[in-house]
Amino acid sequence: MSDYDVIIVGGGPAGLAAALYTARMDLKTVVVDRGPLGGQLLNTELVEDYPGFESVLGSELALKMGEHARKFGVAVRDFEPVEAIDVEDQTKVVRLESGEELRAPALIMAAGGLPRYLEVPGEKEFWGRGVSYCAVCDGAFFKGQELAVVGGGDAAVEEGDFLTRYASKVYIIHRRNELRAQPILVDRARANPKIKFVLDAHVKEIVGEDKVHVIRYEQGGATKELRVGGVFIFVGFVPNSKLFKVHIDHDAGGYILTDRNMQTSVEGIWAVGDVRAQLTKQIATAVGDGTTAAVAAAMYITALKDTARA
Ligand code: NAP
Repeated sequence: MSDYDVIIVGGGPAGLAAALYTARMDLKTVVVDRGPLGGQLLNTELVEDYPGFESVLGSELALKMGEHARKFGVAVRDFEPVEAIDVEDQTKVVRLESGEELRAPALIMAAGGLPRYLEVPGEKEFWGRGVSYCAVCDGAFFKGQELAVVGGGDAAVEEGDFLTRYASKVYIIHRRNELRAQPILVDRARANPKIKFVLDAHVKEIVGEDKVHVIRYEQGGATKELRVGGVFIFVGFVPNSKLFKVHIDHDAGGYILTDRNMQTSVEGIWAVGDVRAQLTKQIATAVGDGTTAAVAAAMYITALKDTARA
């Protein structure tokens, strides 16, 4: 006996788009998230690349997406961490940390991922005492201070730029001479007089006492350091694909492999958004993934119901 037609694990844009569509197609849908609805939108200050919204706060878009899905009757289990996802015959079983189990024939995995750690001495020790992975959450604690941002991708460059609204100076420290970030973001950062790029630099250590005072790095064979009040680390992303107790095909980085309909290697399980192996991690692509998976899941459930009736 299943509680729902579809369980969606993860309440970011991908999960909420999927939920909106499945609920609108009259499927009994639940979204489970370990935190509030919104996923990484909640760690994003301004969104300027989602069609139709020239500029919108991440938190506002999260709220709108959540309300939109709820309007169609989606059950929301927020602040409910998932412990494991298993399959019993054809039923997908989601075990919550609370001990409760949710069951459905279809599951859409939309759990995104977590920041990758730099793995240098001082990172763990000073986490929350100067080391951060979220500029929107922690930037305001560093008013008037000099900060280091580590990484050379979109997140590092965009969040580095954002941090200059608080910091007196932001050093973006990147291990190569070339930035991975989109040129439009790099141009904006280069035009910002508070930003200084430190390139070909390998961070070795974060040093402090009660809180961070110094970041130490190697550049051109020499060890150098900068006095900073905080270190923001944006060196990528680790997908949340380890919740599965059944084998599900994934790539070397742990990103789940799907076909063009978001179908994974396990029947009745789809993967969408940042947890899925794909070219980019954008809100627009996450929403597209969620939509495709929802339609595919609806067809699957209809076929199952037709078979049961026959
Ligand atoms: P990313 O694109 O994977 O970039 C990670 C950066 O960290 C790279 O520059 C990488 O260096 C560096 N790095 C990785 N491991 C490192 C290590 N151990 N030590 C030092 N540096 C290390 O990750 P991201 O910036 O978090 O972005 C993730 C995804 O989100 C991307 O698809 C991105 O497009 C998307 N995103 C988009 C926006 C936007 O469009 N506005 C904003 C944020 C994120 P190398 O370059 O040398 O590999």
